[in-house]
Amino acid sequence: MDLAFVKLSVRNIHDYPKPGINFKDVSSAYRDSEIFHFISTSIADNYLNLGITKVLGIESRGFILGGSLADRLGAGFVPIRKSGKLPAAVFSQSFDLEYGSDTLEIHQDALSSDDVVLIHDDILATGGTMGAAISLVRRFGISNIYVNAFIELDFLGGKESLDPAVPVWSLIHF
Ligand code: AMP
Repeated sequence: MDLAFVKLSVRNIHDYPKPGINFKDVSSAYRDSEIFHFISTSIADNYLNLGITKVLGIESRGFILGGSLADRLGAGFVPIRKSGKLPAAVFSQSFDLEYGSDTLEIHQDALSSDDVVLIHDDILATGGTMGAAISLVRRFGISNIYVNAFIELDFLGGKESLDPAVPVWSLIHF
């Protein structure tokens, strides 16, 4: 197993969910047990010995590897969800999409200022989603934040749009 093989396992769905978008379908990679294990292990290995205490997964595809990463790193798992999904008191952060806007939320009691946080999503595209997630984590006064995506779409410049103080690392790049 190697990264080139993993890259080939990500299926492209053209013109989904709308014309002109080349959708990267991670389900075609995750459904293979050896590939899923390799992805999870490779990402977790990059964050060993950093004292990560919480892995945050972004709804919904960030939940899939997020739980696995939390377990491998000996950390807890915290969901970042779309508006109205979390039952207790939340912090909210809106962000712009190509058309319109969206809102992410996190439980107000999910983190404390001394947590070391790894935020994970399946894909880092323009960075709008991840930027909102970082803003939510900052609300807790947390300074130790790491960002990971399984896939980074380099041509969209998401990494450059994020807080330069936050290390960003992705397993594969297109
Ligand atoms: P962005 O906020 O532009 O960085 O977009 C990141 C979010 O949108 C992630 O949660 C991805 O799951 C999803 N996403 C963006 N672009 C794609 C794409 N080309 N294929 C699949 N999912 C995408």
